Amino acid sequence: MKNIISKIGINSLKEAANTLNIEIEKNLNPKKVLIVNIPINKTTFKGFRVQYGRPAKGGVRFHPNLTLKESINLAFLMTMKTACTNLPLSGAKGGINCNPKELSKKELENITRSFIRKIKKEIGPKKDILAPDVNTNSEIMSWIADEYGENGFKAVTGKAVNQKGSQGRAEATARGLVDIMICHFQSLKNKTVIIQGFGNVGFYTAKILYEEMGSKIIAVSDSKGATITKNRSLDPEALKKYKKENGSVKGYGTPINEKDLLKKSCDIFVPAAMENLIDSKVAFEIKAKTIFEGANGAITLEGEKILEKKNVFIVPDVIANSGGVIVSYLEMLQNDNEVYWSLEEVRKKLKKRITESYKEIKKIKNRFKVSMRTAAYMKALRKINNIQP
Ligand code: NAD
Repeated sequence: MKNIISKIGINSLKEAANTLNIEIEKNLNPKKVLIVNIPINKTTFKGFRVQYGRPAKGGVRFHPNLTLKESINLAFLMTMKTACTNLPLSGAKGGINCNPKELSKKELENITRSFIRKIKKEIGPKKDILAPDVNTNSEIMSWIADEYGENGFKAVTGKAVNQKGSQGRAEATARGLVDIMICHFQSLKNKTVIIQGFGNVGFYTAKILYEEMGSKIIAVSDSKGATITKNRSLDPEALKKYKKENGSVKGYGTPINEKDLLKKSCDIFVPAAMENLIDSKVAFEIKAKTIFEGANGAITLEGEKILEKKNVFIVPDVIANSGGVIVSYLEMLQNDNEVYWSLEEVRKKLKKRITESYKEIKKIKNRFKVSMRTAAYMKALRKINNIQP
C-alpha cells in the first residue's frame, strides 16, 4: 500500500502516527476492494470501488485514466477527510475507466447501470453512499438511485434539489474554503486572491470572495490559459459568462501566462484545478503568503517542503475542501429524516462543523509544532483509532 498512496499522504501519515506513537499499517489497508468488468459494444471497461470501512462515503469518477491504484489513493484521502471533520463515516472512491466524451448518453446510462448492478450488494445506506466526482453529475446520481431500487435516494448524495438533494451542495466546497479563510484572516476585505482552475470550486470561491467578502480576485487560470486584471478585481460572474462563450478565461482582461501568474504577490492562492500542479519548481516561484488547497493533492511533497521553508501557511486539502463531503453528509441526514433545510440552515451547519475542525487542527499544530497537514492527519488518526486528545 505504501507505493499506492501518494508520497505526501504517506509522509503525513507517518509523521502523524509517529507523534501519536501508533502503527500506520492498519490505517493504510482498505477493507473492501471491488473490480468488475463492464462490457459495452466491443469494449470492456473496468469498474472499481474501494472502501476503507463502513458506512463509507465517496465519489464516483468516470475517467479513462482511472485505475485501482488511483481509486485506493483517493479513498484513503477521503478516509482522512471524513475523520478529520468528525463525520461518522469512513472513506470510499471508485468509478469506471471510460471517457464520457466518447460515449452517447444512452451508452453512459447503460454503463452506469451495469456498474451499479454488479456492486449493488456492497453499497447502500449502511454500507457505502456514492456521490458525484470528476465527470459525474446529479443526472448520473439519479440513474444510480433508480438502479439501486428501494430507498435508492439514500444510496447517493449530490442529487438535484427536486430529487431529494440538499440546498447549497453546488457551492459547498468553496463555501467551506471561505469559512476557513475567515477563521484565519477574520476579515477578507481587500485581500488579494489568485485562483488556479475555474470550475466548480474555483468559480464559487471567486464569487463568494468577490461578492460577499469584498476581496480582490486579481488573477484566474484554467486549462487553456490565464487572465489578470489591472483594475480592482475580476468579476467572477462576468468571467464565467466569457468562459462559457469562449471556452476559456484566456482573452478576458489582460492575458498572462500561467507561470507568471504564480509569480504575482497575493494574500491568498487557491489551487482549484488538478492534483500535483504545485511541485517543487512551481513552489519555488510562488509569492503567495497563504495557500488554501481546494484541489485534492494539488501540492506535492517536494513542493510543500519548499513552501514551508518560505513560511507559506498551507491549509491542506483534507480540511480545506471538506465542505463538499460535509454537505453530502447533511444531505444524508435530510434524506434519513425526510426533513429538508433552507440554504441558510445548511450554510450555518457547514460553517460550524468546518470551523470547529479547523480550529482543533490549528491547536494540534501549535501544540506539537507540526505542519497543518500533519496536524490534520493526527486529528484523523485519533478519531479512527479512538485515541483521546
Ligand atoms: P472542475 O472540473 O469543475 O474544474 C476544474 C478546473 O481546473 C477547470 O476550470 C479546468 O480548466 C481547470 N484546469 C485543469 N487543468 C489545469 C491547469 N493545468 N491549470 C489551470 N487550470 C486547470 O472540477 P472541480 O469540481 O472544481 O474540482 C477541482 C478540484 O477540487 C479537483 O481536484 C477535485 O477533486 C477537488 N474537489 C472538488 C470538490 C467539489 O465539490 N467539486 C470537492 C472536493 C474536492
